[in-house]
Amino acid sequence: MSRIKEYLRPANLEEALAMLARGAGRTAILAGGTSLALQIPASVDTLLDIADAGLDYITEKDGLVHIGAGVRVASLVRSDVCRKLYGGALAEAAANIGSTPLRNLITVGGASFQVMPWSDLPGVLLAMDAAFLVKSTSGAERMVPAQTLFARQPRTVLSPSELLVEVQIPIPELAHLGAYQKVAKTRVDYAALTVTVTLLMRQDLVVDARVVVGAAKALPTRLQQAEQVLVNQAPNRQLFVKAASIAAGALEPVRDIRYSALYKKHLTKIWVRRCLERALKLNQGGTYAD
Ligand SMILES: Cc1cc2nc3c(=O)[nH]c(=O)nc-3n(C[C@H](O)[C@H](O)[C@H](O)COP(=O)(O)OP(=O)(O)OC[C@H]3O[C@@H](n4cnc5c(N)ncnc54)[C@H](O)[C@@H]3O)c2cc1C
Repeated sequence: MSRIKEYLRPANLEEALAMLARGAGRTAILAGGTSLALQIPASVDTLLDIADAGLDYITEKDGLVHIGAGVRVASLVRSDVCRKLYGGALAEAAANIGSTPLRNLITVGGASFQVMPWSDLPGVLLAMDAAFLVKSTSGAERMVPAQTLFARQPRTVLSPSELLVEVQIPIPELAHLGAYQKVAKTRVDYAALTVTVTLLMRQDLVVDARVVVGAAKALPTRLQQAEQVLVNQAPNRQLFVKAASIAAGALEPVRDIRYSALYKKHLTKIWVRRCLERALKLNQGGTYAD
């Protein structure tokens, strides 16, 4: 911390981008600070705190849910908008992040930029076909789909002159089901595995499906073979068992400090099925406590 010479707190996004432009290369964007405080890059001497930059909003507009990068993950847990989208999978993932004090600090932008294998949000955002609005100090802006942002470490996708502004999630016109599960030793522990499933339904048939696991590798993994098995089918237990088995067969997990690759495969087979079952139950009025 001693090499930090300047702390900046812009009052809006334009000011934030102007300040980032002036300090290119030596300015770090400070959001919740839960990662940055642990590892400030050696080149950084200025912190740009975006807490007042107007990025703290959750709105529905033009068929999209817009979530500002500055939204604390605790707000996702409380958000009615997030609770009704795909069975509340995003709210549930947010509720599983760390402890209450951490959830009051960690932002959607920080959690999407600083991706660890066990991160809770990226897999859900991938399953919901989210896209990120990114603005640059040059004035340019672009949309980065979650599948692009999370295909590599986000710091290698964004340039130092770019800022994550918001994440946009399409609101499906069809009936949408979903569920999220974090498998961990305790509620506040890092995940051994995370699973997100989302289903789009026309009458009783699945017309689109996403099955995404996290903590199996460095980045979240979509299991498309399992998704394909679900499409054009009416949901039932046998189908879910088959999809989960294919998901586990297709996944090539990497062992980590606590869990072997084989154990992660085993967890995938169990929890993809349970997550699919839970998506159905949630749609019938059940809760995560059931
Ligand atoms: C003890 C502990 C336990 C945790 N447990 C979990 C857990 O169970 N699940 C989980 O998912 N996470 C967990 N986390 C959080 C995770 O590891 C990161 O610390 C967190 O997601 C970072 O978010 P932040 O808002 O604090 O970002 P910061 O620490 O402020 O920033 C992180 C990085 O993102 C960049 N950044 C931030 N916002 C933007 C933006 N808008 N545009 C561009 N770049 C940006 C920063 O410059 C920095 O490089 C835990 C953290 C701690 C400390």
